[in-house]
Amino acid sequence: MHVGGITPLTTIDFPGRLAAVLYCQGCPWRCGYCHNPELLEVKAAAGMSWVQVLLFLEKRRGLVDGVVFSGGEPTLQAALPDALKQVRAMGFATALHTGGMYPERLVAVLPLLDWVGLDIKGPRQRYAEITGARGSDARAWQSLQLLVRSGVAYECRTTWHEGLFSREELQTLEHDLVAEGVTHWTLQPCRTSPRETPRSIAPLPVGLGSRVKAFDVRGGA
Ligand code: SF4
Repeated sequence: MHVGGITPLTTIDFPGRLAAVLYCQGCPWRCGYCHNPELLEVKAAAGMSWVQVLLFLEKRRGLVDGVVFSGGEPTLQAALPDALKQVRAMGFATALHTGGMYPERLVAVLPLLDWVGLDIKGPRQRYAEITGARGSDARAWQSLQLLVRSGVAYECRTTWHEGLFSREELQTLEHDLVAEGVTHWTLQPCRTSPRETPRSIAPLPVGLGSRVKAFDVRGGA
């Protein structure tokens, strides 16, 4: 695995777990709001060798009980299944953050995962615009369907800002996710400028169906 960096401890990236995060190098998409641009290039030098990562995790035994494979895009790397097996063999629970661009690879690693955070970039008609990749909506939606049917614990996450797509489209997206059987969806604030007001970047926790309470798409965050 090409790993660009590590967060030694997180309480928010793997629900119910104290976890370390591995930031996997490389991503085929180019979202304008990407917060990890240094991880996008596949051929960039790895920040740590996989042996170094395993040694690091060895020292984290007893301090963390989970390991999150984040990115970049972890499923880009062919070594992901073996890496997940190794980490599980060390006694850690495993989580994946993915954009779902490789549904066939995602379904192959689902049995090796305890939790998946799947980024849903927006309504299908806006996907190519957001990701810079034609056909990205079909790949993400196929991953979504595979994940929902798998029984693996998951959360769909959407990064949203009025400048990305409208509140009406956000409502349409919610409708589409409900239609796919999604039961866990969270909105994440998108900061497009350091000068944005706190109101415009405040977290917007959302649930689906009867749990849509914390966010009024008509009245603002
Ligand atoms: S999918 Fe994620 S890592 Fe890739 S460009 Fe978009 S935000 Fe960045």
